[in-house]
Amino acid sequence: MSTTLEPEHAQETAEEAAVHILWMNGGLSCDGDSVALTAATQPSIEEIVLGALPGLPKIAVHWPLIDFECGPETGADNFIEWWHKADRGELEPFVLVVEGSIPNEAIKSEGYWAGFGNNPATGQPMRTSEWLDRLASKATAVVAVGTCATYGGIHAMAGNPTGAMGVPDYLGWGWKSKAGLPIVCVPGCPIHPDNLSETLVYLLYQVAGQAPMIPLDAELRPQWLFGSTVHEGCDRAGYYEQGDFAKEYGSAKCLVKLGCWGPVVNCNVPKRGWINGVGGCPNVGGICIACTMPGFPDKFMPFMDEPTGARVSTTASTAYGTVVRRLRKYTIRQKNKEPKWRHKGSQLSTGYTKVW
Ligand code: SF4
Ligand code: SF4
Repeated sequence: MSTTLEPEHAQETAEEAAVHILWMNGGLSCDGDSVALTAATQPSIEEIVLGALPGLPKIAVHWPLIDFECGPETGADNFIEWWHKADRGELEPFVLVVEGSIPNEAIKSEGYWAGFGNNPATGQPMRTSEWLDRLASKATAVVAVGTCATYGGIHAMAGNPTGAMGVPDYLGWGWKSKAGLPIVCVPGCPIHPDNLSETLVYLLYQVAGQAPMIPLDAELRPQWLFGSTVHEGCDRAGYYEQGDFAKEYGSAKCLVKLGCWGPVVNCNVPKRGWINGVGGCPNVGGICIACTMPGFPDKFMPFMDEPTGARVSTTASTAYGTVVRRLRKYTIRQKNKEPKWRHKGSQLSTGYTKVW
């Protein structure tokens, strides 16, 4: 990886790589997904790049966040040249990673919303959407990372001026790469570090012919990562089941009445923890605001109000839970006592029957 080596060695290594990863963060975003990847531990970006995983092809990551080729050593021209190589068909194979939503450049007569590098022919900025037009058909796989790139996210809220959208909205939900792969969407605002690194590893194994077609759900998310709800993996789910709800932050109880959308959100974060297995939104007291969902954020606002769709189920849970809690308290009291035959004295009261 060029980002962890001296620049001249980075160039040699990148030239020899079997698979290139072109990371385009020229969409509308905060770069939070790039930052998130630096926190990955299962596996870490260092393990991926340095070949610590058996069978992984040699790779070169062209990643603006920390790439030497972006800096003063070799200059931004060297960095953007990898994109031009890919465009000329000189980079094969490569995986195109897109971070940030794609603004609709067709809705105005001048200027541009988002760009990345310059077009050598005109000296003018290349629009992010133009890069997608040029590179998507040449990429072995296209990965949309973070909720902006997958579904539009915050920039695509009602009332936005850019007409922003996710990669599937731009390329088409049925789009397939030349290798037959659908767009792979790994949402999250920001993305979960290990969900991203794990998906990249899966795709690299697939490119190397060592893994079957990546299983995706209808929203193009990896099934094994997004197949369960937040609620199903939440540390607080026992409180929900007993109808025991927090009324203020700082409580250890279920957060649904404070605005948690966990029961209807596909996300593995509470199960997985945030960094190195630690943390994970509701586990550590934060309501789930549904950041992995295509309807985010509009369909889940206003945040911090009790979700309207949860009222029936929480009312039912409160009624059922009040009875269950009382019964469980009684049972807990019984089970917290030792059996009565454990005592001093000359009498054995264990129920033993003498047989000799
Ligand atoms: S805090 Fe949220 S995810 Fe956790 S149990 Fe309550 S509603 Fe479910
Ligand atoms: S638990 Fe909710 S808020 Fe947290 S990352 Fe998952 S979807 Fe987003």
